[in-house]
Amino acid sequence: MMLIPAHHFRDIERKPEYLQPEKCVPPPHPSPVGTMWFIRDGCGIACAVVTWFLVLYAEFVVLFVMLIPSRDYVYSIINGIMFNLLAFLALASHCRAMLTDPGAVPKGNATKEFIESLQLKPGQVVYKCPKCCSIKPDRAHHCSVCKRCIRKMDHHCPWVNNCVGENNQKYFVLFTMYIALISLHALIMVGFHFLHCFEEDWTKCSSFSPPTTVILLILLCFEGLLFLIFTSVMFGTQVHSICTDETRPQQTGPWPDSCQAASPLSSGPTR
Ligand SMILES: [Zn+2]
Ligand SMILES: [Zn+2]
Repeated sequence: MMLIPAHHFRDIERKPEYLQPEKCVPPPHPSPVGTMWFIRDGCGIACAVVTWFLVLYAEFVVLFVMLIPSRDYVYSIINGIMFNLLAFLALASHCRAMLTDPGAVPKGNATKEFIESLQLKPGQVVYKCPKCCSIKPDRAHHCSVCKRCIRKMDHHCPWVNNCVGENNQKYFVLFTMYIALISLHALIMVGFHFLHCFEEDWTKCSSFSPPTTVILLILLCFEGLLFLIFTSVMFGTQVHSICTDETRPQQTGPWPDSCQAASPLSSGPTR
């Protein structure tokens, strides 16, 4: 997507001291290009660690309670490969979603030089973020956790410890999809395992004691159900917003002048 549609800015603050380019200086130590994006937020880091722990817990129960003790080797190998592949893809997309710059606007770019370089027409408005001193492109929002303005910000997700924005939304969508699939797969395997154990002797269907087996399986069941519901709702919402965005790009903003995006020549007399 284009960064800044040249004729289409808006100002929401509209204070008298609006813009104040003289107060905006670029940060003295701009982060060098290529540095890894990582949000240092305690709550987000804890949530991301919990996410990994939950996936590894499911991995442990599926392998050591259900598949390895099973004597049906074909069933174990097929399900083992499928589950591990989905778990790997889920964690890989989690890493990509967490470590990808979601589309941060350069900090402190609302300088006099930058505003002059935009060659604004009289009456044209731009939207400056007062918190990070940057000129916001269309549909960028400020995130108080990331302390940056993020292009096409959807929301800040503590589970991936990052904003979901223009650059990392695809990884986030994949992450929710893989977690939904892995949850469904685990639930189906738990169902088969319970059926199998009720038919046979409980001592033969797991290498753990029967009470431990039941507790581990029930916990996995709860985890699977919770995450299946949560991630499939999230996945559906994301896909819906992506689809509506692609088909109706002019109706996403609540501002009436967003309808003028298609005809840049008519953007003069806004506000
Ligand atoms: Zn901002
Ligand atoms: Zn954020």
